Amino acid sequence: MESVTCHQIDQALACHQSLTPMQSEHIETCPLCMAHRATYQQLDKLMATSLSVNPPDHFADRVMSVIETSPVNEYHLFAEKLLASLPLRICLVSGAAVILIGHIVRFILSTVFVTMAAT
Ligand SMILES: [Zn+2]
Repeated sequence: MESVTCHQIDQALACHQSLTPMQSEHIETCPLCMAHRATYQQLDKLMATSLSVNPPDHFADRVMSVIETSPVNEYHLFAEKLLASLPLRICLVSGAAVILIGHIVRFILSTVFVTMAAT
């Protein structure tokens, strides 16, 4: 015998799939599935009536032009030009290498001193 779960019915309702006779029968006896069906029906009504808004003419073009001229984009271009500079990149990599070597030396010294203190 085919089993019916609330989860399967919820998925079918959400995806607007047709229900099997057993699923339809289940909904009529299950308060949870009945509530889900009512919620999906309300959502469908809302989508059909309230959200039928047409965007104004050239809406997408205007959004794209705002994005292209936004200060964030100018900052991004500035950062990109700055990081394209070879001397600056060399300085950043050298600084990172110095910090890394400092940490390694500190780790080795702390290990040596801990070992010496234990003996
Ligand atoms: Zn159910």
